[in-house]
Amino acid sequence: MLLYGRVETMSEMGQAEAVYLEGERIADVGPLEDLSARYPGAKKQSFEQLTPGLHEAHAHPQMWGLQLESLDLDGLTEPQAVAQRVAEKARTLSPGAWIRGGGYLFRAYPTRELLDAAAPHHPVFLQSRDRHSAWANSQALEQAGVTPETPDPSGGALVRDAQGRPTGYLLENAQELVNRVLPQPGLVELERGLQDLARRGYTAVHHMGWCHYSLAEQLAQSGRLPVRLWWALDKDHWRETRPGWRGDRLEVAAVKFFADGALGSRTAWMIEPYPDGSHGLVLDPLELIESEGHAALQAGFGLVVHAIGTWAVQGVLKVFHRLKPRARRIFRLEHVQHVRDAELPLFAGLNLALSMQPMHLLGDAELVRYHLKGHELEAFRLRDLWNTGLPLAFGSDAPVMRPLFELNFQAATAHPLNPAQNLTPAEVLWAYTRGAALAAGWPEHGQIRPGAPADLTLWEQGRPVGRVFGGALEVF
Ligand SMILES: [Zn+2]
Repeated sequence: MLLYGRVETMSEMGQAEAVYLEGERIADVGPLEDLSARYPGAKKQSFEQLTPGLHEAHAHPQMWGLQLESLDLDGLTEPQAVAQRVAEKARTLSPGAWIRGGGYLFRAYPTRELLDAAAPHHPVFLQSRDRHSAWANSQALEQAGVTPETPDPSGGALVRDAQGRPTGYLLENAQELVNRVLPQPGLVELERGLQDLARRGYTAVHHMGWCHYSLAEQLAQSGRLPVRLWWALDKDHWRETRPGWRGDRLEVAAVKFFADGALGSRTAWMIEPYPDGSHGLVLDPLELIESEGHAALQAGFGLVVHAIGTWAVQGVLKVFHRLKPRARRIFRLEHVQHVRDAELPLFAGLNLALSMQPMHLLGDAELVRYHLKGHELEAFRLRDLWNTGLPLAFGSDAPVMRPLFELNFQAATAHPLNPAQNLTPAEVLWAYTRGAALAAGWPEHGQIRPGAPADLTLWEQGRPVGRVFGGALEVF
């Protein structure tokens, strides 16, 4: 198959006109005229732009698959309107299946009767936009064992009617009563999440936790992986398995740790305090990251560490320097959101990839101005980090954000806090392809060159419209 258009090779060849594929490999790259002459029988197709296959370099595909099936109630303020959406959803599900969703904001607490009428044969559990309260129907309460005798849990309350019966509205910790009987996501959600990413033009996904690796192995074994999957294990599970490829689409590659929390909840671990004097939260202590990381490296795994705040970034970089002699593959720092000038030199001398999600800036710029007043220029230092020479890899952290290339493109080329940190469109594309492949430790990927795997993304007007994966051309 011969594909032509503006071919961004991400190699020393720069741009080319055409690429010729044989099976699952790239066989030839060059001017259209030359390739047409060399392969006269080839099936030809043109696209505006062709790039190496996009990587989603930080995602939780199972959680994304779960979210895709949940009702998106964003912007709804009337219980009646929510009930209508629930009724529509109920018609698509077999009786007894859970209906979940979230995003509404009401002025008053509704009761379970409205949901019972909308979905008489399904348990329903819906959360408010801020996740501080929830609305359940009678079936859900029954499955949770909630009766008039159920006491209010500490830190929460069941809204009750005049007779003391729970109305179906749950405040704060009372949500846990139902939450704990919700079915856990499984293989179906993982597969759904990955398939959605494939349809958005991604050919590779870097899995960043919250799902057991055995599910990915099942998909790999039965030939159902729609992308190449780079897998980071949760730190509690790495001793159960070994690193390495399972077929040619799944690599169990690394172990993930969390050095801190996130800015929005003021749990990112900062050197300079927040306005209330706090410094955030340590999740996995640095000593544990170092000792467990050492053991995981010895076992042949790579190391991935979530670090958002300045203190977390500093601490983890120092740990990486100490562990450097043990590492057989590239280290990864996830998020790298807040970095002081003083820490920039610590990035030198490490075999390290910087996995970032600039799209968070689109919603969080205000949060940064509020929580980190006076330190805005330390946030999302895309240009400064690019200049370290270390590979940047871009992702979305789906389901936290929607996995859309254009959101990172927008945030990274027009930095909402500091234009001096802007990247060029070509650099953004590099971080999504070559940079991400280097972050995965897959040097043969992320470039269009003879002999490389034929994982390609196809574009029209700045958006993925198709891909080549597994030797097949898919147009969406
Ligand atoms: Zn994440």
